[in-house]
Amino acid sequence: MSAFVHVLSRRLENIRAQGLWRELRPADSPQSPRLTWAGQEYRNFSSNDYLGLANDPLIREAACRAVEKYGVGSGSARLVSGSLAPHHELETALAAWKKTEATLTFTSGYATALGTITALIGKDDVIILDKLVHACIVDAARLSGAKIRVYDHNDLADLERILQWAAGRPVEGAEKGQVLIVTESIFSMDGDAAPLREIVALKNRYGAWLMVDEAHATGLYGPNRCGLAEELGVSNDVEIQMGTLGKALGSAGGYISGAQVLCDLLVNRARSFIFSTAPVPAAAAAARAAIAFLQTPEGEVRRQRLWQNVARLQARYPLATARPQAILPVVIGDEAKTVEAAAELRARGYFIPAIRYPTVARGAARLRITLTAVHTEADIDDLAAALQAVVPVS
Ligand SMILES: *Cc1c(COP(=O)(O)O)cnc(C)c1O
Repeated sequence: MSAFVHVLSRRLENIRAQGLWRELRPADSPQSPRLTWAGQEYRNFSSNDYLGLANDPLIREAACRAVEKYGVGSGSARLVSGSLAPHHELETALAAWKKTEATLTFTSGYATALGTITALIGKDDVIILDKLVHACIVDAARLSGAKIRVYDHNDLADLERILQWAAGRPVEGAEKGQVLIVTESIFSMDGDAAPLREIVALKNRYGAWLMVDEAHATGLYGPNRCGLAEELGVSNDVEIQMGTLGKALGSAGGYISGAQVLCDLLVNRARSFIFSTAPVPAAAAAARAAIAFLQTPEGEVRRQRLWQNVARLQARYPLATARPQAILPVVIGDEAKTVEAAAELRARGYFIPAIRYPTVARGAARLRITLTAVHTEADIDDLAAALQAVVPVS
């Protein structure tokens, strides 16, 4: 036993020495613009609860009603006895909102990517990833056994170079395998957007499939707030539309929207769906309420409040972006300096996470500021002043 402890302790020392130590901080409050830790209150600029729905009375109530009617646990996987009405109601609502034939939900975005990618491709196939895609997509790609190629972030020429290589590769099995491109629409650590129209044009030219992870775009972009693919008018060209329920939708879980045959295949092949207990009914009911809310005029008001807050901060601290974005990184680079800046901000009462390797590349450490629709103007103004004091930019 002591040898085991010794080996792990050495590994931890190594992590610490690189400035990469991570630890949990138990919060005593819901997600909101204020967070309480150990009796201390902080202004929270770290949450992906962009529209303030995680603690919204409407969404809370929907979750409570589901608990009263269906209890807490789902009891089993969906295919056994856990396919409760709230899951089906959520999937129907999601498919109607996304205007797709079908939608299938999973317990998390991570499980969604893992199950979907491994269900769709295998060792005779090629998967092409933007360099900055989320860890769950990288893990899924590795698990699939497909050949993995990575293109420079949002670099269409590099993507086309790989598509050309894939088109010319020798046939190894009985038939030529598939090519699947995977990108996020809004990138999780940079907040910038993928050139989806151009990617769609390329995938059509080369006969590839396209999967787009809208984790950070769902609820924020598009005329019906469905995501960036909707805003850019390319939803129908994306074979596999992924999103999560735990960010702007304020609940938990992930989904795939697309053709009925896609969802049927996932029910039959996605191992993270088949071999995992169904999400709790309260999470499904909460997500469904969030989707209903987003489609009302109040949903648009909520989104506009978020963009007003973003513009307000950008007017006071130089974080210019091509389009409104809720994720505003302040890239510092050095891991230790970033941790120091985050600690200094914390001492001033602001919680902004220091994002480091392996979440981002080494030497690309950053403060990841996230704004929400429920921050006040004073929250934003005070944040700008604190940022100017800790990370001054002229
Ligand atoms: C958060 C996130 C996920 C994972 O979703 P969870 O529901 O948190 O598991 C997947 N993709 C991206 C881009 C994300 O940011």
